[in-house]
Amino acid sequence: MTQLESRPPREHLLGAPRLIRAPEKGAIVGIITSSHQRGSRTHHYQGRTECCRWNDCKMCVAGVRREYHGYLAVWDPKSLEQFVIELTPAPSDLVADWEEKWGTLRGCIFRLFRATEKVNGRVRIQLKERPATGPRLPAAIDLKAYLERLWGVVFESEHRVPERSGAVEVIMQSNEAAVAMREKALKNGDT
Ligand SMILES: [Zn+2]
Repeated sequence: MTQLESRPPREHLLGAPRLIRAPEKGAIVGIITSSHQRGSRTHHYQGRTECCRWNDCKMCVAGVRREYHGYLAVWDPKSLEQFVIELTPAPSDLVADWEEKWGTLRGCIFRLFRATEKVNGRVRIQLKERPATGPRLPAAIDLKAYLERLWGVVFESEHRVPERSGAVEVIMQSNEAAVAMREKALKNGDT
């Protein structure tokens, strides 16, 4: 017995979906397929965005500035391409507000662009409800698995919601710990 198949099996599709940041000029428009946003503390390290390893982070110890990036699985209904977009804190916060308000991001239309047409111009996102009739959305890229592969890490939990009031404290504690560790490393002549 043999079988005919309606599409290639996933393991025969080479390459991971692209990770896309806001373009220098113009905008990216598409539909969010993720139900929820996923984000991580990050460092810009050796020319790429790396996730922070928290208590076991050599980048924190080395004093590399700690940032945050949010990620969403999205779909372009014109090209049918699925990819992942990366957001800086301000647009990521707006996306979190939308998720809080509507309970899901899936199906939301987005426009990702920069406020000024410069490579480091502020990233902006506009969100809009999808009309009731529209194309059927594909299953979303598994963001946890995608980011784990991207960074070679395993995340503790699927979803961690930082408490707004506690978040600042956590960052400060972490920075203090990093400074203490850095000072200790310098004392030992270990840079
Ligand atoms: Zn770190």
